[in-house]
Amino acid sequence: MVHGQGDHMGERRKTAGEAGWHVSRYLIWATVPGARGVAVANLFNGTCGICSPIEWALLAEADDLPRDHPFVARFARRGLMVNFDERAALQTLGRAACAGPQGVSLTICPTMGCNFDCPYCFSAHHGKAMSRKVQDDVVSLAQRMLDASGAQVLSVTWFGGEPLLAPRVIESLSSRLISVAERRGGTYSASIITNGYLLTQEVADMLAAAKVQHVQVTVDGVGAMHDATRRLADGGPTFECIVANLRNNKLGFQVHVRCNVHENNKGEFDELRAYMERVARASGNDITCFPALVRNNAAANMRSQQLDLARGANMGDLLVFQQVRHFGPARGGFCGAHSLWDVGIDEQGRLHKCWEAVDKPALSFGTAHDWNPADPIATAASPDNLTKFLNTAQPTSDAECLDCVWLPLCVGGCPYRRLFESKACVAYKDDPQALVRALYAHMRAQN
Ligand code: SF4
Ligand code: SF4
Repeated sequence: MVHGQGDHMGERRKTAGEAGWHVSRYLIWATVPGARGVAVANLFNGTCGICSPIEWALLAEADDLPRDHPFVARFARRGLMVNFDERAALQTLGRAACAGPQGVSLTICPTMGCNFDCPYCFSAHHGKAMSRKVQDDVVSLAQRMLDASGAQVLSVTWFGGEPLLAPRVIESLSSRLISVAERRGGTYSASIITNGYLLTQEVADMLAAAKVQHVQVTVDGVGAMHDATRRLADGGPTFECIVANLRNNKLGFQVHVRCNVHENNKGEFDELRAYMERVARASGNDITCFPALVRNNAAANMRSQQLDLARGANMGDLLVFQQVRHFGPARGGFCGAHSLWDVGIDEQGRLHKCWEAVDKPALSFGTAHDWNPADPIATAASPDNLTKFLNTAQPTSDAECLDCVWLPLCVGGCPYRRLFESKACVAYKDDPQALVRALYAHMRAQN
């Protein structure tokens, strides 16, 4: 039998759905004032754009459109339709985040001591500066991690305690770690998290020479509002000294002012941001400001008579502001706790998977002296403290997360909270429109 044109025309064209295409399961949307259409964000590929009224109408029935309909190709180009299993892709990204050596990242506490006494701080302040012997172990560990991973990038975050109580450790270890990276033809970068009280010109110059590019300083409000929570161990004020350091010194790095937001100061963030913009203009220093929530952690709860903790529902705008700054394609891991190549080291050389665990010896998984990432289980003193953090990178075993539109962005939330407190859902989980509107406004401002 010869098949004529009539036979061919009689064949039913496949729909997009039958050809394996479907609307992404990770879309959220909102109407936005002034836009002709609907703003749609894709949480998997980290995009946000406007769908015209006709696009929006067709997207609702896109699976049933003919495969060769021009709108199917258009939706596919924009990531609104996909022909793969996005949840399976997230699992793969999660595994890759655990093992993939984009770089070696060390969070080093040169001391756990601190000159402040902040009511929400999780750290118990004790300990002296890191000894030369432990510093030797840290350098060896960096070498082993670079060797085992094959990575060419070594990044260090100085943390504590207050790291600037031990400036000589930072200076000496930096120069040795820079040599380790450079001998391999790799790159080195560093940042520091400090209260800013000891950021004199001499210390700032030392940090710049130590390749510190980003400095995070916490300021909780202007003047007395800051001093209510950020006080010296003897109760003295700190605001004037910190601001003088930022205004009067020439700082050869970016400064990110973090404002810890709680119920008492949540109305003050905009004022602080404007204040810091004036400090930046007056000094010529590169200073930006961002909010961070003081959440229900053990320390804050224990000391909550001193501080009203942030209540999620009231903080939606700030949380959305935070999220918009970091919006992008799904990354698979939530934080360094999901990467084998990301390790925290306390002043005694104990290793941890999480910043909030760094002052808790019971959560250490090994030591800088003994642990070898080429044989990560056998050389860990407490392998469970390593594996339980890494394995939270697979929240897809949680039925609620598996069905949740926020999964690409949330990855099941902070691993520490998931393990030891409760699952930390995104605080604006029930208000996706707020995030879409903020993303759209951000996108407009960028263009
Ligand atoms: S596990 Fe949570 S607390 Fe620990 S480093 Fe990651 S985000 Fe921070
Ligand atoms: S932790 Fe909560 S918000 Fe995050 S993916 Fe799981 S269910 Fe969704």
